Amino acid sequence: MLATLKLIIAFFFFGSLETLFPLKPKQKRFRQGWLTDIAHFFINHFFVKLSSYIIAVVLFILLHPLVSSSLQEGVTSQPSWLQFIEAFLIAELSFYIIHRLEHTLPWLWNFHVIHHSSTELDWLASVRFHPLEMIIANVAVGMPLFLLGFTKETFGQYLIFGAVLTLFNHANTSLRVPILRWIIATPEFHHWHHSKEQVAHNKNFSGFPLIDLLFGTFYLPQSKMPSNYGVDEFIPQTYGEQILYPIKIKKDVRIQILKLLKLPIIKISRWFQENIYRFQLWILPVPIIWKLFFLEYLLFPLACLH
Ligand SMILES: [Zn+2]
Ligand SMILES: [Zn+2]
Repeated sequence: MLATLKLIIAFFFFGSLETLFPLKPKQKRFRQGWLTDIAHFFINHFFVKLSSYIIAVVLFILLHPLVSSSLQEGVTSQPSWLQFIEAFLIAELSFYIIHRLEHTLPWLWNFHVIHHSSTELDWLASVRFHPLEMIIANVAVGMPLFLLGFTKETFGQYLIFGAVLTLFNHANTSLRVPILRWIIATPEFHHWHHSKEQVAHNKNFSGFPLIDLLFGTFYLPQSKMPSNYGVDEFIPQTYGEQILYPIKIKKDVRIQILKLLKLPIIKISRWFQENIYRFQLWILPVPIIWKLFFLEYLLFPLACLH
């Protein structure tokens, strides 16, 4: 229910931004692959966050004896605004390293290429990530913060900030903020990372552009934006096939696995279709928040089964 609420807020907020200041005005709101992205959004929202957290806690317990408690006390005793800036810099450096590795190591690229398979960029394209890549990236970014002892509040602030920043820098908007373009990855910066143009190949990895400047991977031309996005290799466009894409298996085996994975979703979906009349009578007076709960359970199978 919280996931649907987030999706609706993002739809109205970033949708308005894209309508008021569009980068590609002719691009449709419900462009190719939007339903695939909805499926990515729900799966990543529910399962990836939980599994990343479990892995991070296990690693934390294993690595905890290596960390000095006086260092952790020093971190938590600082004012919250300073902790946030430090967390941002450390997390963005970790993200730069893991993101660059994803573009360098073939086995990691097989997962990350799913994110680069969008041929049209908008706020919704930002959620297209293979779940395994999300888990690897979340752990790589979260672990240093965990080990340094940053507070739960700083974690929470950075999570919200990171989520909004990702939605913003994929948005189909021409909005430019002069000073901000050097501090955070704005759309004009991150869109080049998705560009098919050779000059922008393996550029702009970070959420903090100065890190790219430091490592020589910065590319931000004045008043020019990429003409096309995506990758040269063929990437399937349905959710199930994108999930199985990194595991290079034969097509008929892939189809069988997809059938098995879809079975429980088909059953839930059928049950809802057959029983929806039961809810219609009493769903009217229930609060909006519970209606979103039902919407979520209708949207999710639809997105996975298309
Ligand atoms: Zn990338
Ligand atoms: Zn991206």
